Amino acid sequence: MIEKDLIGRGIYNERVLYAFSKVPREEFVPPQYKHLAYEDYPLPIGEGQTISQPYMVAIMLQEMHLKGDEKVLEVGAGSGYVVALLAEICREVWGIERIASLAEQARERLQKLGYTNAHIIIGDGSKGLPEQAPFDAILVSAAGRRVPPALWEQLAEGGRLIIPLENEYSQILTVIEKKEGKMRKREAGPCLFVPLIEEE
Ligand code: SAM
Repeated sequence: MIEKDLIGRGIYNERVLYAFSKVPREEFVPPQYKHLAYEDYPLPIGEGQTISQPYMVAIMLQEMHLKGDEKVLEVGAGSGYVVALLAEICREVWGIERIASLAEQARERLQKLGYTNAHIIIGDGSKGLPEQAPFDAILVSAAGRRVPPALWEQLAEGGRLIIPLENEYSQILTVIEKKEGKMRKREAGPCLFVPLIEEE
């Protein structure tokens, strides 16, 4: 998967490739899908949700430009796979998942694999995690209609927020940077994610 689907399609960031080499994706999918764990597509994880396509996750992680000392937030932690990848390449990671059963399974997996710098919270991630803010980078793993204001507020100066933004017709992976308090936005290509459910 790393050779063919990541390096072969333009993923070059050494830290991102390292993370993929360390985290066993088969531990994050239901037993009946383990034989498909290294195929480059999303797989069902229950509750109508999916573990994302590895290539798309790699693009998102590459866009985060992580160096290793960051505190990071993932909204939509699902199986916990992306939280584990992040735990390999940053200082501390907080994942929020709104579906309690998925969050609990994710917690168990991360504990079993020995991650002490990764935490899973049950809740509405569009509100962020004010008690742990600011975050050096924020990854949203579900498609929103807008950048949730709380996430923008909780992003540190100089930080990056990666989010799939959707309109009526399509979803675009969007990279947002906070520079001197101002928003810089760049589109990084089409994508397809389950919706970000905002309680508000
Ligand atoms: N990153 C996950 C992984 O590694 O398995 C997969 C994410 S899945 C594509 C999107 C997840 O976002 C779903 O589990 C869904 O329940 C969750 N989600 C949607 N809206 C949310 C919200 N407002 N707060 C927290 N989680 C949310």
